Amino acid sequence: MRSLWKDEEAKQFKGDLGLRVYTSRLLGREKSLVLHGGGNTSVKVREKNLFGEEETILYVKGSGWDLETIEPQGFSPVRLSHVLRLSELPSLSDPEMVNQLVTHMLKASAPAPSIETILHGLMPQKFVDHTHADAVLSVTNTKDGEGRIREIYGKRCVVIPYLMPGFDLAQFCAREFRAQGTKDTVGMVLLNHGIFSFGETARESYERMIELVTLAEQYLESKGAWSVELKPFVPGTVDAAAQARLRRALSDTAGTPLILRTTMNERMLGFARRADIGHISQQGPATPDHVIRTKRTPMLGMDIGRYVVEYKRYFGEHAPKAKEPKTMLDPAPRVVLDPGFGLAAAGRTAKDAAIVDEIYDHTIDVILRAEALGGFRALPAKDIFDVEYWDLEQAKLKKGGKPPVFSGEVALVTGAASGIGKAAVAAFLARGAAVVGLDLNDKIESLHARPDFLGLRCDVTDEPQLKLATTRAVTAFGGIDMLVLNAGMFPATRKIAELPAEEWRKSMSVNLDANLLLMRLCHPFLKLGPRGGRVVVIGSKNVPAPGPGASAYSAAKAALNQLARVAALEWGADGIRINTLHPNAVFDTGLWTEEVLAQRAKQYGMTVEAYKTNNVLRTEVTSRDVAELAAEMCGPLFAKTTGAQVPVDGGNERVI
Ligand SMILES: [Zn+2]
Repeated sequence: MRSLWKDEEAKQFKGDLGLRVYTSRLLGREKSLVLHGGGNTSVKVREKNLFGEEETILYVKGSGWDLETIEPQGFSPVRLSHVLRLSELPSLSDPEMVNQLVTHMLKASAPAPSIETILHGLMPQKFVDHTHADAVLSVTNTKDGEGRIREIYGKRCVVIPYLMPGFDLAQFCAREFRAQGTKDTVGMVLLNHGIFSFGETARESYERMIELVTLAEQYLESKGAWSVELKPFVPGTVDAAAQARLRRALSDTAGTPLILRTTMNERMLGFARRADIGHISQQGPATPDHVIRTKRTPMLGMDIGRYVVEYKRYFGEHAPKAKEPKTMLDPAPRVVLDPGFGLAAAGRTAKDAAIVDEIYDHTIDVILRAEALGGFRALPAKDIFDVEYWDLEQAKLKKGGKPPVFSGEVALVTGAASGIGKAAVAAFLARGAAVVGLDLNDKIESLHARPDFLGLRCDVTDEPQLKLATTRAVTAFGGIDMLVLNAGMFPATRKIAELPAEEWRKSMSVNLDANLLLMRLCHPFLKLGPRGGRVVVIGSKNVPAPGPGASAYSAAKAALNQLARVAALEWGADGIRINTLHPNAVFDTGLWTEEVLAQRAKQYGMTVEAYKTNNVLRTEVTSRDVAELAAEMCGPLFAKTTGAQVPVDGGNERVI
């Protein structure tokens, strides 16, 4: 592992806290050191308070911040003198410890300081860095991990047996540091947990971390346990229907819709098909705080019933031994390993599922290297339980606000690169859904760079392309719960007498046939939606009130309208609702070129401006207006409505 320190970059960060921010980000950039909120850093700074008195402030990573993207305000400023006084107490509960730390900060708006704050405070050096380095865990998580760690580090690191993070661990480390530490000590290894490094400057502490982790890497290499080969298997195609059924079963078990992200590649297949998978994957996580994301063990294969029984047994065994009563978390697995598809990661949001996937990817490295070193050995289930059911996590559970309305659900929107479709993508993302956007325009692929969006270039009139797109949607998120049929085209104005058959067929193909294809392909997935499937058809005012010169468009939309009504009848028993919106005069869409707009205005003998607000309410209807209503139609307000047609047109005399 190499130091990422660059003088050029470092120059942009001022003072001790500035450089603390810089090297924290450097640690965060290295995924094999810390993942998603894991690890923490601190610096002790002498400052003058309002009264002109000097005091030492411990700036320690605040909870909810990620090292990779941390800012100065992500550090909680705690008075060090109070931290040190607290450390002298014979005992201190976690909630009281947090209360004490929060009430002794300099800034009311700062985040709650890390649970490892007292430990940081007790370390004598100015800068303290802490990571859960894969390489170190690969060594400590073995039968003779402690001996190997002492062999690697000698006097350079104090070695601490596993203890749950919190007050006791901090006191224990301080005692051991005094007992074991020498002038050569630059770090501390916490067995089965991670590693600390110290220094008088930000760079020194950071580079010692890199150096210490490199020693572990070199040790693994010397034992032939660094590059671990998996038997290669060529990935096939994900069976979307099977994954959607699995996601439905997981969601039912969790009591809430979950996103399921499937990763079928050579590595995951190689791991899932190992003969010893039943042994190596069932011991526990690489470091205890992963349990919050991944649960203690992955599910092997598809037997959820068995996993739930096992999870309840684990809870039943350890919960009664806890000091306070515990509330059982949902018993659904978050990692599924299967020889058929490799790995599937579940989470309440697409971001959560992506985090689970990434954590388990690193867990595989740790397991394989530890195996090569002599056998992976995780902590006993009791220790993992204590972290999974920690007071502070349980408190979060009780506080936890209401999730967004479509949290854990998946929406697919066609014609999503512009106009109503693009606005629909935004409306569903804002309501917590994972969204798949299809469009002919390849702009769709870069519409949003976020884990809950997948943009796919797709010609909706091409069935094989649509099939591939739905499979990719289910692979990414586990299902399709909501469908917004928006893609359409508006042919140039043409009287029937002069309408070429080709233009008629093109309109029918895009505005009608494509929707039938997609509805048919999505039906099995909509049926499996944990909260029932929903379809919103973007129709047109032209259905109830057609205009001259638009026969190809009006006829296609009218047929689509009828198709939706029949679908409402046929799919009601499957719990699928299908409703139609009839927008009119939405001019900020891809359909309306200046030319078409001018032609239509002329048709009605109006100026373009008058044409835009030519409705009862004299208001302009925007893409966003239509998109927001489409999203609401998938929500609880419309839970008992299907087969409806709702105008979004500012009021049209011919329709009213
Ligand atoms: Zn830690």
